[in-house]
Amino acid sequence: MSRSFSRCLLVLVVAGLAGLVALWFYLQPPTVTPTTLAPPSPLALSALSEAPDWSKLEVFQNTISRTDFERLLTTVFTTGNAWQNFIEITATEARIKTGNSGTAALFHLRFATPGHTAPTPRQWHMAADLPPAPTAKPLSGLRIAIDPGHLGGHWAQLEERWLAVGNGPPICEGDLTLTVAKLLQPRLTALGATVLLVRSTSEPVTPLRPDDLLPLARTTGRPGQSPAALRQLAERLFYRTAEIHARAQLVNTSLKPDLVLCLHFNADSWGNPLHPILVKHSHLHLLLNGAYTDAELALADQRFALLEKLLHRSHEEEASVGADVADVFAARTGLPPFVYPPDSSTARPVNNHPYLWARNLLANRLYACPVIFMEPYVMNSSNDFARLQAGDYHGLRKINGQLQPSIFREYADSLTDALAQHYAKSRQPTKPQ
Ligand SMILES: [Zn+2]
Repeated sequence: MSRSFSRCLLVLVVAGLAGLVALWFYLQPPTVTPTTLAPPSPLALSALSEAPDWSKLEVFQNTISRTDFERLLTTVFTTGNAWQNFIEITATEARIKTGNSGTAALFHLRFATPGHTAPTPRQWHMAADLPPAPTAKPLSGLRIAIDPGHLGGHWAQLEERWLAVGNGPPICEGDLTLTVAKLLQPRLTALGATVLLVRSTSEPVTPLRPDDLLPLARTTGRPGQSPAALRQLAERLFYRTAEIHARAQLVNTSLKPDLVLCLHFNADSWGNPLHPILVKHSHLHLLLNGAYTDAELALADQRFALLEKLLHRSHEEEASVGADVADVFAARTGLPPFVYPPDSSTARPVNNHPYLWARNLLANRLYACPVIFMEPYVMNSSNDFARLQAGDYHGLRKINGQLQPSIFREYADSLTDALAQHYAKSRQPTKPQ
């Protein structure tokens, strides 16, 4: 064997070995970190909502016991069992998924233990935290925001919250709620409260208009939707979503109240607004935040909001104020309770009180303080409709053959009496001299 031949053979053997090694590496499965196994799934969010900053929940570490957390989660804030896909409760902490994928980061909320309970941080005052007040000013030191539901004037037609009978003027829910708000404001102020209106005209709070929301409607709507359907979706995003987000921004960053009163008038479905179906019955109920559905829990922003609400402990305050408001309102008006079907997946009763229900509405979810969402009367009941059409007046008037007060004053006076009673008994008592 010549030296050149043996060198050539050596080169071939080395090259062959190198090739085998390369082939071996090539055939091995790639070593990757778990996060690169699949592209991260996009965060599921509600329309116009931003990805939540979970670090904001850090302030709630050690503020709630496991028992209270589990009780509120399962008896007030959820309607199904899907929360178990996102929240794992151990003896010492709740492990909360911040996203939807299997590899989503977890937020760890440590439970309070006996002797190690941190105070709950909040920017609003509970009634029990308020110092004693003079008898004539039971609301002194309290900031109340009044949110007249919906929009008024020509916007009411867009919202489809209006109806008319015969040649009478149309009644628009957004104008009715503003009338009540303007009667309520001086009454609550006289009792010592600082009262702020979330809306004081028929105009929207949001600077956005339906045209601005058409691009979003195109990306979120079903493919192949007609221009008319897209337009309707953009309108709904305007008055239902963008408007409530703008009000929440105002409430949370500027008004900073201790309590928000969302004023509404309920209605049964009335069909054609120019020939509405009139019904005989009327009723009352109040809504508190809670009853998140399984589908809502799957959205990161709503899951975060649920936890923020639960951890702020605003439910206890809403239930306490709500029970007194409902009792006084019902006694004064004689309205029977509205009842949701027992198998409802969007509402659940609160503390077995006949008038109190938990529901997850955009306003009572986004306003970062206790919210009482009023749903009295039925706009298309024959008696309530006649009273609404009569407008506001002093004293009593014969309507439907019966002497009746202005429905707007009855609404405002019932709320005023209820809040006066509630705060007089719930705030700190005067110390004996
Ligand atoms: Zn309404």
